[in-house]
Amino acid sequence: MNWREYIRPVTPYVPGEQPRDNRVIKLNTNENPYPPSPKVMEPYDFPLRKYPDPTAGDLVQAIADYHGVDKEQVFVGVGSDDVLGMAFLTFFNSDLPILFPDISYSFYPVWAEVFQIPCRSIPVTEDFTIRAEDYLGENGGVVFPNPNAPTGILLPKENVKQILDGNRDSIVIVDEAYIDFAPEGSSALSLLPEYDNLLVVRTFSKSRSMAGLRIGYAIGSREVIAAMQAVKYSYNSYTMNQPSIVWGVRSIQDDAYFREMVQKIVATRERFTAALQDMGFRVLPSATNFVFAGHPSVPAREIFEKARGNGIFFRYFSQPRVCDFLRITIGTDEEMDQVIRFLRENLDINPKKLYH
Ligand code: PMP
Repeated sequence: MNWREYIRPVTPYVPGEQPRDNRVIKLNTNENPYPPSPKVMEPYDFPLRKYPDPTAGDLVQAIADYHGVDKEQVFVGVGSDDVLGMAFLTFFNSDLPILFPDISYSFYPVWAEVFQIPCRSIPVTEDFTIRAEDYLGENGGVVFPNPNAPTGILLPKENVKQILDGNRDSIVIVDEAYIDFAPEGSSALSLLPEYDNLLVVRTFSKSRSMAGLRIGYAIGSREVIAAMQAVKYSYNSYTMNQPSIVWGVRSIQDDAYFREMVQKIVATRERFTAALQDMGFRVLPSATNFVFAGHPSVPAREIFEKARGNGIFFRYFSQPRVCDFLRITIGTDEEMDQVIRFLRENLDINPKKLYH
């Protein structure tokens, strides 16, 4: 026997580039351009000598109160990646394939591989939407982002319900990383009382401007959350560090600031979308803090590389279908103005339309 033959076979997820140069306009990893609430950053003397509360009780309670659920319905983790990974490990143990869209968060197939879960990706339609009917067959579980990434498209709640109705015997994970940028009432959270197999996953990384802290959470039935806790405590009890617990609670407490920042980004997204369309870009309808856009006459890769050379970072995916698009995070108004200026000046795009 040779140990090399028994290394777990994996093709890791590739995160977006994190340039060191802070002059870069960084629109490649869907970070929030605004800082978290100033209240989050007020001084706090962390007792680093001691272990944190393994249940992260204060944070769990704050999240539970915020969403009007019991604290036994909340699971917290180190970013939603940790929460999603833990959910895959907990629930996806059948021999049937789990289902997710082919154009979607590219971490799903990575977890399927690392945990050796059979999986099947389901093509999104011609216009990049998820078709609920495609998720109704026998399966080992279902997972999809809503709104989807990298398309930005929101699946209406009645279609989410359709997927849940057709999957009473499977766990359905709705990854709501970007839901705060969608119209109110779009979340699957309101469906929780009807479905004990639903798990809604959220993050503090986007709408709450705390990607650097790493806080994610899931809300589900007590039974579903208890199953995840059991796996977590079989792996690492102290996932949440003390600053995450304290700063996470403070972020939840300043709801006015949170809502204001989200509104600001949504307004910038709409303005930026209009400017792109004006230049002839096709922009998929976004309910997130990014847009997925492509131009019919200038290859996306060309725009991506030229922008990168000019200190503007977008995200580009080279796979078929999505290779015609760029995923552009919504930054501040000033940043997006610079992007618009760059596109107008550097690309030979539809010159007649540029000056009206
Ligand atoms: N889900 C989706 C759809 C995402 O785009 C991301 C961000 N890469 C995540 C989950 C994970 O985000 P985080 O771990 O920062 O919460």
